[in-house]
Amino acid sequence: MTIGIVGAGQLGRMMALAGYPLGLDFLFLDKDTRTPGGQVGPLIAGALTDRNLLGELARRCDVLTFDWENIPVEALENLPGKARIAPPLRALAAAQDRLSEKRTFELLGIPTTKYASVDSRESLEVAVRSIGLPGVLKTRRMGYDGKGQFVLRKPADLDRAWTALGQSALIYENLVPFDAEVSVIAVRGADGKLAFYPLNLNVHRDGILRLTRAPYGNVALTRQAQRAARKLLTHFQYTGVLTIEFFVKRGRLIANEMAPRVHNSGHWTIEGADTSQFENHVRAIAGLPLGSTRPRGHSAMINLVGEMPTRDALLAEPALHCHDYGKTARPGRKLGHVTICENTAKNRDRRALKLLSTIDRATWLALR
Ligand code: AMP
Repeated sequence: MTIGIVGAGQLGRMMALAGYPLGLDFLFLDKDTRTPGGQVGPLIAGALTDRNLLGELARRCDVLTFDWENIPVEALENLPGKARIAPPLRALAAAQDRLSEKRTFELLGIPTTKYASVDSRESLEVAVRSIGLPGVLKTRRMGYDGKGQFVLRKPADLDRAWTALGQSALIYENLVPFDAEVSVIAVRGADGKLAFYPLNLNVHRDGILRLTRAPYGNVALTRQAQRAARKLLTHFQYTGVLTIEFFVKRGRLIANEMAPRVHNSGHWTIEGADTSQFENHVRAIAGLPLGSTRPRGHSAMINLVGEMPTRDALLAEPALHCHDYGKTARPGRKLGHVTICENTAKNRDRRALKLLSTIDRATWLALR
C-alpha cells in the first residue's frame, strides 16, 4: 500500500519513518527533495496546490494524507484515481478557519474562548466592547506558531492591531489568563475505534512550542479532554490523528484550537509511548488496527528552534533521543527536537530543565 503525503515537512517525514517498518510505501508532494520528507522518501516536485500534481499523487497512491493543514480544500476535492483522503476534508476545512473552528466547538458543546468575527474597523470596536480587554486579534486563516496575532491590552492598541492585520478576515478572542496549556492527541481508526494519548503539558514562548511534558494531569482533566476529542472525532467520522490544544483555568479546559493531523506536542510518543502518534496515524489511514497509546514512563520533548546545537554536544548526553529534520537554519524555524524518557516525573523535570539551560536559555529562565 502506498500513502501519499501532501507536504514533505518534518511531520510527513516522521510519518514515513514510522510507516516503513510496517511495510508501507510513501510518496510525497512538495517543492523539492531537500525538504525533510524528500530526504527519506520519493517525491513529486511542485506546488502543494497544483491540481495536476495532486491528481498524479492520487493516481499513484491508495490513500492521501497531509502534513500541513492549510492546503486549500478545493485543491484536494474530486481528485482522479482511487485514493481515499484521510483525515476527512470537512475536518480540514473546519480547522483552517478559526471562526468555523470555534463554531464547531460551540456546536458540540466544547468550552472555548469568547470570540467575535471581525471584518471592519467598526466591527473590531464592537467586538472589543462586547468581549473586553485584554484580547487577541487573530487572522482567521494561515495562522501558526503565533503568526498573525496581536494582543490588545488598552483602547489605543485597536488602531495598531487594525493596521497590522486589517487586510485579512479576523477573529477577536478574550485573552485567557491560563494556569497551563495542554493538548490531547487522539486517533480514530477506519473501523471507528478510538484511542487517546495522555495529556501533554506545553510551554510556548513567542507563540512557538518549546517544551512538552507527558503524561500530565489528573483524571478529571483527562476526561474533559477525551470527551472533547471523542465529540470531534465522531462528528467528522474522522480517520487518523486529531489534536486539540486547550488552556487550563481553575481545573477547567478551554479549547483554543484543533489540528487535523499529528502534532508537535506528540513528538515524545516516538520513544515515550508503545506506539507513536505517527505510526497510529499511518495505521488508521491505512485501515490497520491501532496500536497501544500507553506511555512508557515520563517524557519531555524540547524543540530545537532557530539554530541546531552541535550533534556532538547532543549525542554526548546519555539516553537523549535526537531528531534533526535536515532543514536550513533560520530564526524561529523548528529544526529538530530532542526527547528524554525517565522513570519518574521528578527525574524527567530535573533533566528537562538542565537540558533547557543549554539548548533554550530564554525558556529555561522563564521556567526557573
Ligand atoms: P495559537 O496559534 O492560537 O495556538 O496561539 C499561539 C499561542 O498564543 C497559544 O499557545 C497561547 O500561548 C497564546 N494564545 C493564543 N490565543 C490566546 C488566548 N485567547 N488567550 C491566551 N493566550 C493565547
